[in-house]
Amino acid sequence: MYIYLAFLAFLFLIAVILVNVSWRLRRRVGSDVCKETISTEPNLGDHTYTSPFSVNNILTLHSLTPLDGGFPIILMNIDFIHSSLSSILLRPLLLLLLCTGTVFGQYHIYWGDVHGHSSLSDGKGSPDDYFTHARDVARLDFAILTDHDFGNGRPQWRMPKENWTLVQDKADEFNATGRFVAIGGYEWTSQAKYWSGFTNGPTERLFPGPPKFYNHKNVYFTNRIGYLFSAKDVAYNNPDTLAEAVRRQGGLIQNNHPFALFNEAGDQWEYVPANSSVIVNTEMGLDVSRHKGRTYELNWEKSLREFLNRGGRTGFVAGSDSHEGRPAARTAVLATELTCEAVFDALRHRRNYAINHARISLDFRINGHFMGEEIESAGKPQIMVDVKGTAPVEEIVIVRDGNVLHALRSQKQNVSFAYVDETFAGPSYYYLRVIQTDTDPHGNRSHAWSSPIWVSRSQSGIQNLH
Ligand SMILES: [Zn+2]
Ligand SMILES: [Zn+2]
Repeated sequence: MYIYLAFLAFLFLIAVILVNVSWRLRRRVGSDVCKETISTEPNLGDHTYTSPFSVNNILTLHSLTPLDGGFPIILMNIDFIHSSLSSILLRPLLLLLLCTGTVFGQYHIYWGDVHGHSSLSDGKGSPDDYFTHARDVARLDFAILTDHDFGNGRPQWRMPKENWTLVQDKADEFNATGRFVAIGGYEWTSQAKYWSGFTNGPTERLFPGPPKFYNHKNVYFTNRIGYLFSAKDVAYNNPDTLAEAVRRQGGLIQNNHPFALFNEAGDQWEYVPANSSVIVNTEMGLDVSRHKGRTYELNWEKSLREFLNRGGRTGFVAGSDSHEGRPAARTAVLATELTCEAVFDALRHRRNYAINHARISLDFRINGHFMGEEIESAGKPQIMVDVKGTAPVEEIVIVRDGNVLHALRSQKQNVSFAYVDETFAGPSYYYLRVIQTDTDPHGNRSHAWSSPIWVSRSQSGIQNLH
């Protein structure tokens, strides 16, 4: 018995030293992770668990407060004492990973808007107004201008080539490395009523075949292209031919507002899985949204979950879709620097997440890998969560394969914990959803949704760290 206690004490001492060393190292290299006070305490009364797992899986065992001078205090509780030896060994290692920010130090969070309009289609203000508002008023790090390519209430209308050239000119003009990234894009606008059918009264029938509504998709590039690939052009009128053309130009595509629009049910997910490497992200939003006093049942997150449940691959972004010339922070990217290429690299690898209002900082990793990655795991996935809110957090949920794997309630603004998925059978996807207590002007609570991480079982038994 005494030997066992002595061994535990020894392990505890090692853990304290490891975390302390990592803390000092991290301070020296100036890594962003864990920079702020982590004050989450193992107050189990605060937590509401809807998963079948015990509190043993929570790692909220350290406190780095100004009072203790940055020296980590590992708060032991009864669960810690009674947990298995392997778990005891695991926890200091998880703490170490979480606090050293092994790789996170190379990434910064940049805030932007991936969806907005100007008077080049059905919005207000010029492209100059749009980018100026984004940079100087909304204080964004990056913004993508995405006017409609055609239609937009007028079946015969399409964006003139000179306007597409202007979009790219303005993006070039506003781009300033390290200060602001402006990206030129457009909204590929597939609408069944103009495109292939007569779903909303007689209008022009553009193409034969059953009416299809592929919904809208934003397309953007780092380099200039001669003209956009329009949904009105028979060569690019479905997601697969569009994706192929955009791939050749090195561009990216995102699915927009994946819910029924204009009463047209969406065929937006109809593309071959391989094209998910080009159609990399999808706009995320609230299932039930309040706007100007009215409530809309959009089933937005539900729609994305169903796509993921079917094996779909997509990261999460969000856009203001402003038609008033007022872009806003809706997408965060984890990028190495503030350049067009670095922002694109983040979006291409789904190293991005969506917010609907407040700028909530998220770090969500599994086995040290970042959101958006597809990884293999030889053992139980080790999930690490670090949330730095702007208001008290109401709820943090880890979603696995469409269901709540773990939920906790906290009134803290900053929350860090690690969680081991004891029932992992793989393959599975995981994402994080955070809800704060504050609201936007319409009364919607602030949300943040990390892009998913896909985890499959390692065949070799050796963890693949690609
Ligand atoms: Zn749209
Ligand atoms: Zn739009």
